[in-house]
Amino acid sequence: MSQFDYIIAGAGASGLMLAYELTLDPNWQPSILIIDKDLKERNDRTWCFWEQESNPLEHIVFRKWETAFFQGPGFKENMSLYPYSYKMIRGVDFYEFMKLHLSKFVNVTWLSAEINSIKDHQAITTDGNYKAATFFDSTKSLKDFEIPTKYHQLLQHFKGYIIETTTEEFDPTIFTYMDFDIDQKGDCRFGYILPFSPTKALVEYTLFSTDLLSSDEYTTGLESYIVDNLGIKSYKIAEKEFGVIPMTDYPFNMNPEPGVFRIGTSGGFTKASTGYTFLRTQKIAKQIAKNLRNGKPPLEKLPFQQRRFKKYDSTLLHVLAQSNLSGAEVFTQLFKKNGPQAIFKFLDEETTLGEELRIMNSTPVLTFAKAFIERLHI
Ligand SMILES: Cc1cc2nc3c(=O)[nH]c(=O)nc-3n(C[C@H](O)[C@H](O)[C@H](O)COP(=O)(O)OP(=O)(O)OC[C@H]3O[C@@H](n4cnc5c(N)ncnc54)[C@H](O)[C@@H]3O)c2cc1C
Repeated sequence: MSQFDYIIAGAGASGLMLAYELTLDPNWQPSILIIDKDLKERNDRTWCFWEQESNPLEHIVFRKWETAFFQGPGFKENMSLYPYSYKMIRGVDFYEFMKLHLSKFVNVTWLSAEINSIKDHQAITTDGNYKAATFFDSTKSLKDFEIPTKYHQLLQHFKGYIIETTTEEFDPTIFTYMDFDIDQKGDCRFGYILPFSPTKALVEYTLFSTDLLSSDEYTTGLESYIVDNLGIKSYKIAEKEFGVIPMTDYPFNMNPEPGVFRIGTSGGFTKASTGYTFLRTQKIAKQIAKNLRNGKPPLEKLPFQQRRFKKYDSTLLHVLAQSNLSGAEVFTQLFKKNGPQAIFKFLDEETTLGEELRIMNSTPVLTFAKAFIERLHI
């Protein structure tokens, strides 16, 4: 049986980012086994995130935008994001870059196999058993967790098409962040558009709700958004995307047993109130690698662990789930009254208490204060 310093279970966003970070110091090259059942050759998702700086993966950023369109009840505006940019990385470009980078390291081995279990410092796979003192596991999905009912469990779910049109329909300099001008059907539903050129864009129909829709409902919602809202009568579908991202205040256990560390969505890296995960994962992976390199416990001083921000996330989920305020109203007020820069900074967990109070003040204060107090003891 082969033995490694680290086994990374799952070569998705978090597994590959961690593997990448572990290769960056030429004087410290631990043996690493990466295991995934998938070859990671498909463009299975697109990742977007905002930031001010240049990203370490800037060379694979496919598109970026400096202006966002937002439309909600009583508000419709193109908003400058300066000094932020909203960036998009295509899954296939990320996997290709990571695979090429990792293939240059003799201490990194890639195994294409399904993992049946990880136990007692051993991974049992469809292609043999492998040992390591430390595992980083991103293979668990939401259904592997029994989440007590006291926690909110919203889902961000969406269907998208990359469409090509014969006439110029899009302004490639402005992306649509949230367009609530669609039938909410008692949930929080919005259109999201990433234009690549005047004739090509990813258009998504997105919901924040507790239950998934039937396949037909996504299709109807998305196609009617394209035809009725965007007025695009004729288009060709180049690619399709479907995704479900957990939005929960459940405190995922990152270290469920000795030597096993959960990373990615199953490690709780997803921002509960938004579903954004990519940039947070990049920052957390960097810190884990730094800890390991310095002989420290992997989870020491990880970013995004401040309790008050977890409570804010929980508060927003509580308001969406329990109050009679709609998601459309809540998000519109937040963006209209604060602007995207203040909201991005807040969601990045970089605001001061004073800035947070100003944001709270822009919401229906009583509803949010009540929800905050109700979530304090959770
Ligand atoms: C369609 C979609 C779009 C998204 N867009 C954004 C976005 O724009 N911005 C953002 O911040 N976040 C986004 N997210 C959320 C989040 O960034 C992604 O889900 C991200 O891929 C999570 O990384 P991960 O490492 O936890 O999981 P994954 O990237 O899903 O990786 C898990 C890996 O484990 C492998 N695996 C699973 N089970 C086994 C097994 N038994 N044996 C071997 N291998 C296994 C899988 O093949 C997979 O490669 C999106 C999610 C989806 C689904």
